[in-house]
Amino acid sequence: MHFDHYGGEAARLAADLVNLTVPPGPAELEPLLAGHSIVRRVLTARQAEEIWEWSRRLAGCFGPQDLDQRCAAVNSLLAEASSRPHISLHDGRPHLHYSTVDADPAAHLRAVTAAGLAHVVCSAGAGRLGRCARGICALAFVDTSRNGRRAYCTVRCANNDAVARHRGRDRREGRVPGH
Ligand SMILES: [Zn+2]
Ligand SMILES: [Zn+2]
Repeated sequence: MHFDHYGGEAARLAADLVNLTVPPGPAELEPLLAGHSIVRRVLTARQAEEIWEWSRRLAGCFGPQDLDQRCAAVNSLLAEASSRPHISLHDGRPHLHYSTVDADPAAHLRAVTAAGLAHVVCSAGAGRLGRCARGICALAFVDTSRNGRRAYCTVRCANNDAVARHRGRDRREGRVPGH
């Protein structure tokens, strides 16, 4: 298991974009991008729209699916992201960047998130692009746990689902709810 800059930060940003439920304006996107170390994030309304459309595409890469399906989904994003990888030394250690400094912010985001998902699939494990198993939640997440078997977005969802399943069992067995 290996989470580098892209497999970690950029893939988590992709998950956050997937979890948006309404089209965000530039003002809503700004803190989200800042939280994931995206430098170029001054957006126009049109670019915010493009990022919303892109986020719906990213959504298809998360959740249970077979390996062929997942790779095809990520590949179609990589093809569209038209990134121009180059080696950067900004932190003193050579590593790949997937977008040039003069790319527009929406194009930059497409390149970075597509590369992030590809890194998770190739370096960490395709199944780590998850969806919360609690049906009413279904948030996208990147599973960075040691064994890569996380089924829920948070401990809270895992607990709530366990309680719900327990109650369901009690009902089916005719017990008093809450016992
Ligand atoms: Zn870097
Ligand atoms: Zn959840």
